[in-house]
Amino acid sequence: MSFASKPCLHGLAREELAAVCGELGFQEFRANQLWHWLYVRRAADWDRMRTLPSALRAQLAERYTLQPARAVEVCGPEGCTRKVLVGLQDGAQVEMVLLPVADRLPVCLSSQAGCRFGCAFCASGQAGFVRNLLAGEMVGEVLLAAEFFGRRPSHVLFMGVGEPLDNYDEVLRAVRIINHPDGLAVGARRITLSTCGLIPGIRRLAGEGLQVELSVSLHAPDDATRARLMPANRKHPLAELLEACADYTRQTRRIITFEYTLIGSLNDRPEQAQQLIRLLQRFPCRVNLIPLSAVSGFAGAPPAPEAVRAFQQALNGAGINATLRDSRGSDLQAACGQLRCRRLAPDAGRA
Ligand code: SAH
Repeated sequence: MSFASKPCLHGLAREELAAVCGELGFQEFRANQLWHWLYVRRAADWDRMRTLPSALRAQLAERYTLQPARAVEVCGPEGCTRKVLVGLQDGAQVEMVLLPVADRLPVCLSSQAGCRFGCAFCASGQAGFVRNLLAGEMVGEVLLAAEFFGRRPSHVLFMGVGEPLDNYDEVLRAVRIINHPDGLAVGARRITLSTCGLIPGIRRLAGEGLQVELSVSLHAPDDATRARLMPANRKHPLAELLEACADYTRQTRRIITFEYTLIGSLNDRPEQAQQLIRLLQRFPCRVNLIPLSAVSGFAGAPPAPEAVRAFQQALNGAGINATLRDSRGSDLQAACGQLRCRRLAPDAGRA
């Protein structure tokens, strides 16, 4: 079955749905019912939306798709870390990871097909950039995750393929829909945006009045090493980036988490831990250490376990809360930095 490209209903804010209902000649309270069907009941077909007049359903069905994202392939057993290859209407494909643990149901989403930023150790940018995902497609990923979990995800991490702050408007639109208390209701503090350090996006986010978690990928304590690993550092060097982060913390009173991927002998040495401490001591923050996941095309080695321990101890000893990320999914190529975007020939994109 091929599915035609139509606008995603899931990309509309509730007020916009109300306007659509009005334009189609229906009372605006219908939008509340529709919202309930979409996000509380998570109806996957129009026929289930029994409280809506059938004429409204028919008109909406003609104009919008209810299936912005679908599972093309799933790796991993139920109840464990699973990687889902997500197919979009135009045949573009991105990966999403389900990370259930105890009573938590986090999902790691992609915000772009491909990535423009080309970090040396990350697979997501290796095939270049295809396109931004639309808000409705990202909301579609969350709904797909809910389908797998059998309930709505508890946490939403924009840490899959892509750079969320490079697709700012659509990501923020998706965040507001995912966060809406009458819908999926994922609390803002359970939504994490992870950025390679795009300063204008960080400054803009500070003014949104949202309580989302912000993670900033640092990966090195000096410009030369960071620029080698992350080309984005040339435009967004450390001093300016950290100033934007300090301002963000002052303005929002939210603590930023800095991600630091440890790469053997490259950025995991004791003097680099000291340099990092000097950089970060100016304002309250956390550090999340991520041992490098293997990625083909990058020759760096994972850090020695003793180096990881020493790095973490140095930060904690200096009063900087440093945690070690348990980067699950490496057996599925689903760990941090291993996710990819695939683009199939138009025919192959159809199931
Ligand atoms: N574009 C966003 C989201 C990227 S993925 C960002 O740059 O933050 C989330 C985290 O995984 C980032 O900190 C990223 O740098 C890290 N990462 C990428 N490749 C990795 C790898 N091979 N091993 C460990 N972490 C990696």
